[in-house]
Amino acid sequence: MALRTVPRPLLDFADSLEIASFTYPVVETFHSIQGEGFWFGTAAFFIRLAGCDVGCPWCDTKISWNPKRHPQVSVGQLRDQVQVAQPKIIVITGGEPLMHDLYPLTTGLKETGLPLHLETSGAHPLSGHFDWLTLSPKPFKAPLPEIYDHVSELKVVIDQATDFQWAETQAQKIAAEIPQYLQPQWENPASQSLIFDYILAHPEWRLGLQTHKFLGVR
Ligand code: SF4
Repeated sequence: MALRTVPRPLLDFADSLEIASFTYPVVETFHSIQGEGFWFGTAAFFIRLAGCDVGCPWCDTKISWNPKRHPQVSVGQLRDQVQVAQPKIIVITGGEPLMHDLYPLTTGLKETGLPLHLETSGAHPLSGHFDWLTLSPKPFKAPLPEIYDHVSELKVVIDQATDFQWAETQAQKIAAEIPQYLQPQWENPASQSLIFDYILAHPEWRLGLQTHKFLGVR
């Protein structure tokens, strides 16, 4: 599968020193294994940025919503953490990472030589240099149209039966060969059987499980 990258704009940053000192509100960083999607099972370094205005009622990271509750961490510090961890991939997640200009962060992290992955709802303008983009669109604040040309995989959370219609509208906006997952809403066990039955009738979809939650790890 060809990796998709976000176009490079003109950068305002004169040198890597300036990029390294750029800061972002960070909820947490951790070295773990990607528990879901196409890269399931891969050693990954996760950077969870703070800030989200999408407002999913079942959100499992509401602590990330207010960026003022979290410390500012520099790109240089984050790059150092990645180099100590030595993962296979770097995953930028949130919150909604695209609430921030991700060009400085991804420019700095590119110096590690590792692939950069983004997990986003797509509700804010795309920025940054990415090798893989996981789109998890939410009906509470729909993606901007520009995102669909950059999607590497589609992940739609299903809470109730009406969410399948939302999932199908999103799948129609991406190329047919892109992997598309239906993920149960973790707090609603009934969503698992809904998805099971749906995929049997709609085999273009795959089951997306948050295996890290089953394992009790981050
Ligand atoms: Fe939570 Fe993600 Fe929804 Fe934001 S987009 S409210 S972080 S689930």
